[in-house]
Amino acid sequence: MGTAHENAIIQMELAAALLQEEYEQEPLFWQAVENLKNPMHLHATDLFIECDDGSIGRFRAYRSQHNNARGPFKGGIRFHPQVEEEEVKALSMWMTWKCAMVNIPYGGGKGGIAVDPKLLSTAELEQLSRAYAAFLADKIGPWKDIPAPDVNTNCQIMAWMVDEYQRYYSTASPGSENLLATFTGKPLRLGGSEGREEATGLGGVYVLQHFLDSNGLSNTEPIRVAIQGFGNAGYWFARRAYERGWRIVAVSDSRGAIYKEEGLNPDAVLSVKQTSGSVIHFPAQRITEAELLSLDVDVLAPAALQSMIHAGNAKTIRAQVILELANGPVTPEADQILWKKGVTVLPDILANAGGVAVSYFEWVQNIQGYPWEYAVITARLQALLNQAFDAMWNMKERKHTDCRKAAYLVAMKRVIDAMLLRGGLEHERHLYQDHHRLLPHD
Ligand code: NAD
Repeated sequence: MGTAHENAIIQMELAAALLQEEYEQEPLFWQAVENLKNPMHLHATDLFIECDDGSIGRFRAYRSQHNNARGPFKGGIRFHPQVEEEEVKALSMWMTWKCAMVNIPYGGGKGGIAVDPKLLSTAELEQLSRAYAAFLADKIGPWKDIPAPDVNTNCQIMAWMVDEYQRYYSTASPGSENLLATFTGKPLRLGGSEGREEATGLGGVYVLQHFLDSNGLSNTEPIRVAIQGFGNAGYWFARRAYERGWRIVAVSDSRGAIYKEEGLNPDAVLSVKQTSGSVIHFPAQRITEAELLSLDVDVLAPAALQSMIHAGNAKTIRAQVILELANGPVTPEADQILWKKGVTVLPDILANAGGVAVSYFEWVQNIQGYPWEYAVITARLQALLNQAFDAMWNMKERKHTDCRKAAYLVAMKRVIDAMLLRGGLEHERHLYQDHHRLLPHD
């Protein structure tokens, strides 16, 4: 199994092979594809904090800025022990495609720190979040790069980062920056948006509903769903799905999985997880992670980490539809196996784009200084995702291909068109090489 970045490049190359016929007269098409294989900038450093026991903690931190042809870099910040260079590079590339897929005016970025935040006290977590914001301060901004929460980060962490960023700006260039529009996923009382917390899960429900409606499958209820990962994306998807009468038969977290054929109430599971630390303490049948992935359900929603469905387990999948709430949960090898089995994979760059879409709404509200109501947010989110879904579906029919390649074709075309309109592709390539050489000393 390749690294996440290698997988991301394979996905891009497969789509590029189909896209090239649209660019027969364009000699720089392959140059653009080549440039898109790596981020424009990759920042890395070690962060130091003073731990509660007086020792010094050292943590590796990254920010990958993949492409900004369509607008400022945009993407989350992940706190996880597995965070490393190849991972943030892949995640930032996927953000470029995602923002283009839903046609919002951003490029792609992603950052993270190699840390297990569960091992830190609140004071240590705040120090580390502030150290990261200070490291990024001159590299981000509302027209440069706009971070947001991702795995193990939340609105409180964004609040600390806004505050640290303000400290930097009050000395560097007082009053010149829109501080709130530099981060999204903030608390409601600090410039956050209605609906942001649930946006990824709710967006997943909208995408799935539109898929079912478009294929005349809406009457086959109750839709039976299994969800891998019960964090922000997984829980909110479960909750909004449950409210529609869909049946959540299994969920899991990093400690294990549970199953109940009559259906689980997501709020009841959440309250057990909050008090006991895991969904496994909920009164339901314990199953293994492998059993959850191979359940005979209508929809399997991976909502944890990348590469969870791979060549080794794709054959065991019995779900008819995979809704990718996580980023990159299905590897390219698994994609081929699932395609042959007739499983529809609704790809991450569409299925989980609700989060970045409402982040975009938050940024617009911060710039306008004019908050929108919840009903306005959800209506605009649904309209935006339906439009994106239709663009993907039309491409799928036109090119007789799978949903992921169709989504990539729509998204890559938008990005490459913007790059070609700007010109200077040769120059950009040299820029990247310079940045890459600078990395070890960054
Ligand atoms: P989170 O930290 O809130 O939740 C992650 C969940 O996954 C936790 O319940 C954790 O226990 C579980 N998990 C971790 N390893 C697991 C394993 N091996 N098996 C089963 N469960 C496991 O994170 P999140 O924000 O919900 O993000 C989850 C995924 O969704 C990530 O891939 C993220 O990039 C993607 N995503 C999130 C957002 C967002 O707005 N939060 C937006 C787009 C995509």
